[in-house]
Amino acid sequence: MNAQIEAQYEETLDPEEWESMRVLGHRILDDAMDYLETLRDRPVWQHAPPQVKAHFEGPPPPEPEPAEEVYHEYLRYILPYQFGNSHPRFWGWVAGPGTVMGMFAELLAASTDAISGSFSYLSNNYVELQVLDWCKDLLGYPPDAGGLITSGCSASNLIGLSVARNAMAGFDVRSRGMYNAPQQMTLYCSEEAHSSIQKAVELLGFGNDALRRIPVNESLQIDLAALKAAIENDRANGLLPICIVGCAGTTNTAAIDDLNALADICAEEKCWFHVDGACGAWTAIAPRYRHLVAGMERADSLAFDLHKWMYLQYPIGCVLIRNAEEQRRAFSLSTTYLAHGEGDRGLTGIDVPWLSDYGFELSRGFCALKAWMTIKEHGTARYGRLIQQNIDQAHYLARLIEAAPELELALPVSLNIVNFRYTRPDLDDAMLDGLNKQIETELQERGIAVTSTVTLRDRKFLHVGIANHRSRWEDFDLLVREVIRIGNELAGSGA
Ligand SMILES: *Cc1c(COP(=O)(O)O)cnc(C)c1O
Repeated sequence: MNAQIEAQYEETLDPEEWESMRVLGHRILDDAMDYLETLRDRPVWQHAPPQVKAHFEGPPPPEPEPAEEVYHEYLRYILPYQFGNSHPRFWGWVAGPGTVMGMFAELLAASTDAISGSFSYLSNNYVELQVLDWCKDLLGYPPDAGGLITSGCSASNLIGLSVARNAMAGFDVRSRGMYNAPQQMTLYCSEEAHSSIQKAVELLGFGNDALRRIPVNESLQIDLAALKAAIENDRANGLLPICIVGCAGTTNTAAIDDLNALADICAEEKCWFHVDGACGAWTAIAPRYRHLVAGMERADSLAFDLHKWMYLQYPIGCVLIRNAEEQRRAFSLSTTYLAHGEGDRGLTGIDVPWLSDYGFELSRGFCALKAWMTIKEHGTARYGRLIQQNIDQAHYLARLIEAAPELELALPVSLNIVNFRYTRPDLDDAMLDGLNKQIETELQERGIAVTSTVTLRDRKFLHVGIANHRSRWEDFDLLVREVIRIGNELAGSGA
């Protein structure tokens, strides 16, 4: 074979012409910065029209398209139809808005196509381990605890409950499988717990029936007496209670279970204590509110996000496991092609444990970089103040609602979520449900704000989840004004 003849088949995905690609790159970064700087001037959300959906039909492109044209398609058909969560008045569900440094970090990680969590003598691993150490420090975990950066709290819950299952099952689940369990295992959470807990329980082979949904009190926290009774009842029936899942901030109302009481019950009942703190875990760094999550640091495993209340770009979550060895036992595998070189000296040895031995994924992106760069840029004190600001804003919004005769608060604010509705004495609950759903739609369609709706005690409420560093106090004044205006408009016109 002759290299010159072979060379005619040689191709690459690198630019044919670096200079024009560089110009495009600068333009993309400038456009992105403009977008972020002027977020407030744009509608929060707009409906993608049918022609946009139709644009994404068709076969894969067999031939190249100019890079500029591909970018123009992005600008025209993709950028305007985002979820809106980077906007200052996005408060639907619970979502974070991203940071400028987070965007830079994503670009930097992509520029080296960075991989995290395996191999040795790579800075990426030191960064992830340092971010884990920072999380332990900030959330009250011991320095020798295990953990992992994940793609979100669903993955974190799955990893936490995997370790719980294997540690508590009383037999070798990894070799023998759930089919050989001598006793059926049960897990406990409140009725308000997140659907990702059910998904994890199903994926781990417990079966959804094994997840006992315990009723809640009037603050929507798990009812402790009902929990104890359920555990006792299951034991009496020959079942094996292995895990209690506490909520540190539910998705509907940000209810926080009595975490110290749950930790005590777990100690008495010899159950694993898992806490889902997707959003609420970060209350621990807000000086005036950290008492609300007291006891969370006693959990055997703690799942939380950094793309909700730490405001970072999607995706990034984290799980901490008090006993790092239990975590390793649940996931580690050594194959010949991934031999870690333990005991070797020099460049073939290992410097830090492979994080692929602590979760179910091998290849992972370098999500930790955006956390590391943004937390360094702002410092944890500012983060604590921002979390506190969001909670204060929730209380401020609640006061505005209480002062408005047209509005009704669903329940007292416990953290960063406010649920309320527009009311009129002449409308019954079914009509009010429809009206509030319509108000939500109008707020979105007119680009004013994004809220979601929730059903609490069979009534529909507008749901405002504040995990947004861009929201200003005046944004909540505007929300209240607009809800009343739209409500009057709709109800007045015969809703
Ligand atoms: C959002 C949420 C989750 C799931 O987290 P993802 O990051 O979306 O996977 C789990 N639990 C609670 C309480 C949540 O609010």
